[in-house]
Formats: sequence, structure tokens, C-alpha cells
Amino acid sequence: MSITRRTVLAGTAAAAGAALAGPALAKAPMSGQQNAGFHRFKIGSFEVIALHDGVAVRDMPKGFVRNASDADVSAAFAELGLPADKLTITFTALAVNTGDKVVLFDAGNGGAGGPVGNVAKNLAAAGIQPGDVDVHAFSHFHGDHIGGVKAADGKLVFPNAEIVVPDAEWAFWMDDAKMNNAPEAMKGGFQLVRKQFADMAGKVRRQSWEKEVVPGITAIQADGHTPGHTAYLISSGNQQMMFVADITNHPGIFARRPEWQAIFDMDPQRAIDTRKRLLDRAAADKIRLSFYHAPFPATGFVVKDGAGYDFQQALWQNTL
Ligand SMILES: [Zn+2]
Repeated sequence: MSITRRTVLAGTAAAAGAALAGPALAKAPMSGQQNAGFHRFKIGSFEVIALHDGVAVRDMPKGFVRNASDADVSAAFAELGLPADKLTITFTALAVNTGDKVVLFDAGNGGAGGPVGNVAKNLAAAGIQPGDVDVHAFSHFHGDHIGGVKAADGKLVFPNAEIVVPDAEWAFWMDDAKMNNAPEAMKGGFQLVRKQFADMAGKVRRQSWEKEVVPGITAIQADGHTPGHTAYLISSGNQQMMFVADITNHPGIFARRPEWQAIFDMDPQRAIDTRKRLLDRAAADKIRLSFYHAPFPATGFVVKDGAGYDFQQALWQNTL
């Protein structure tokens, strides 16, 4: 082909056009959205659903672990690939459909969605509407577990559910003398418990430890983090798992170092004893665990390793 003035001009225009448009665009647009945060697996004939409430990132508080230096705590976070100067906390509730009942454990932080407050939305994305929850059971009464009981208008988010609360937890937080004698920083916690539950005092079921909540689900004593902190053993066929809630904060840090006392544990020594007792049991019996503050989907196994336990996430052992 001979080069004429015309082909030179056309080539220049094409080059200019390409420069204006930039590199070729992908056919699919960027999403800017995360996928719905639920993850389903089976325990015997039960369907279990991990429900992502969200993630909160705050500045690392000074003295986050009472009996470890801030430098050691930051190093432990960095070892997991987490920012060393931030406290990154994931929140994961759990639902179980036993075939007869839908049982939801804890409620998330509440709020209208956003970084946290997504339990009801993600449960609906998994095909279970708020009105379908039959039993709403709680591990303990910290705000990240009971904030989602009611919407901003004061109505119950899960309107048909029977509320099941640990007896010892109710006894502690509903005690006016304990509220009045509590340090100022704890008073908000007492008030939130009253806001969420006081108007239902006659209706809630106060659950004792080592007793069944529904067939196949048993409340397990796990106090220390709070006075009535409770785990739930979920059994079907020859399989079992345990919703252990806050026996650790991030298990990659606190199962690994069971003696560390995070500032959230109200009775630190009791929390250590409970942590070791339940992690020992889970390691020995190979019980799948669901931690409230593990990275989503927050479920896996622990194996004993020296003085601690390694948390091994069970991401893909989810045959339905
Ligand atoms: Zn918590």
C-alpha cells in the first residue's frame, strides 16, 4: 500500500482517538458492591447459615490486652496480615434450620446496614425472611450481639421469634443494683439491655445451661466474657458443631494465645478457663466451631499446638 496524505491523516486521527478513549474497557462494569454475606453448610440433616453482619475497623486501643504489651498485640495482628495499628473486628451471626424450626443466634450490631447491621438483610438473601425465624437465642448481651434485636422504630426485627436468653445473663444485666454500682463506662450497656428486652420480660424464655433450646440444640456454660455468656451445641445425626460466640475475640490471635486477656472479658480468669475448656473439647472431639469474631464465614476447627490452638477455617467443607 502506498502511503498517501490521506492514509497518514487517518492513522493520526485513529491514534488520537485511542489516546482519548484510554485502554480498552472491560465489557462488564465495576460493581462497587459486595456479594450477599451468607454461607451455608450442613450438620447432619440441619442446614446452618453463617450470616455476615459486617466489619468494624477502629484505632487499636491502648492496653487492648491486659496482660500483653501493645507492641506484642500489634505484632500478633500484623502476623495475620491485619493492620498493626487498627482493631479489625468481624461480626458473624448464625442461623440453623433444623427442618422443624429456624433458630437464629445473636442479632448483630443493628442499624440500617452499612459497614455493620446486615444480619437480617443477609438472612433474607439466604431465603429466610425475618418473620420466618422461630427462635432467637442469644449468647450474651453485649451491643454487637443484641443491637439488631429492634429496628430504629423500636419494632422487633424478627417479629415472630421466641426470644431465648441465658438465665445468668438476664439476671446480671437486669439487676438494678448492679447497674447503679457499675462504672460509668458500663452504664450504657445496662441501658441497651433494658431498651432491647425490658418490655418483653414476661415473654422471654430464660435458658439454663446444659438444657435443650430445641431438639438438637443445647445451651453450654461459657461464662467469663460476661457473667452469663453461653455457647450452643448443635447436633444432628453423627455430626456436631458449636456456636462459641465470644469465648475468643479473633481466634487467630486469642485461640493461639488463650491466656491473653482482652479488655472485653469481664472476668478475665474465668474467661481463660472457659476458653481452654471449650477449645480443648472442640480439639479432642473435632467439633466444628463458629466464632462470632473470626473472619467470615467464621467457622472451622481448632487443633492443639503447644500452649494454644490453631484455628483452621473450614471454607470449602460445605457439601449440602
Ligand atoms: Zn462480641
